[in-house]
Amino acid sequence: LKANFSVVQDENNEMNGFITVLSDVTEQERIEQERREFVSNVSHELRTPLTTMRSYIEALTDGAWKDEEIAPRFLDVTQNETDRMIRLVNDLLQLSKMDRKDTGLFKEKVDFVPFFGHIIDRFEMNRRENMAFIRELSKQDLYVWIDKDKITQVLDNVISNAIKYSPKGGTITFKALPGSKYLQVSISDQGLGMPLDTVDKIFDRFYRVDKARSREMGGTGLGLAIAREIIEAHHGQIWAKSQEGKGTTVFFTLPLISQKRRRR
Ligand code: ADP
Repeated sequence: LKANFSVVQDENNEMNGFITVLSDVTEQERIEQERREFVSNVSHELRTPLTTMRSYIEALTDGAWKDEEIAPRFLDVTQNETDRMIRLVNDLLQLSKMDRKDTGLFKEKVDFVPFFGHIIDRFEMNRRENMAFIRELSKQDLYVWIDKDKITQVLDNVISNAIKYSPKGGTITFKALPGSKYLQVSISDQGLGMPLDTVDKIFDRFYRVDKARSREMGGTGLGLAIAREIIEAHHGQIWAKSQEGKGTTVFFTLPLISQKRRRR
């Protein structure tokens, strides 16, 4: 805590009071520190694909372009890296919009279970042979007030992570169950899991348990940070439970629209 004192004087230069300004320096320092880290992270994330691209382009310029076998492979790499940078910049733009609170959520009343069902169907159609899907969805109508595009983005991200981090396959379980005021959604996998002390950090910007693996899969490390912003903008919460080598469950809640009619 920092304190600033100023003496207040009247027109005869008599002291008639003083002003104390207390400011929480640790909080300011923390924000400043986070900002510095963020800028440094962004720079690193952009430098990696750029240096990769530079060396491949250099090789092509130095003659690899003439090799019918090598040239397409090298061009493929530069294309993948470009795609990753576009994804990264799009994710960053979305986060920055949300920081400025001008997300512009277009909320509507949605019956959650059929909405969730369609998203699961889309993944189930393209699922790998070694994966099974189980649905434990409420039979009740569960109405929520949501921006469908944004919640679709959250679900897409969490479900694709469950698939991405389950190299050996296994079962993915989808749940949507009502509490008294909130709907609780969970997506469980039997994949790699993660160490206990990392579970809360995966919602931080750029945090990855295994940097190399995430990169290899084309991740930006921002998906869950965006998911958290979206869920919090809907007045819900998001968290995870995980066991290394056993699997991960990601949970989130959304406020239910009360179905009780008000009597006059
Ligand atoms: P990424 O683009 O790296 O997947 P995310 O923000 O979506 O970024 O996730 C952050 C990190 O959390 C991932 O890099 C991974 O280490 C971890 N993670 C997320 N979901 C899972 C999961 N289902 N199983 C294991 N690890 C996960």
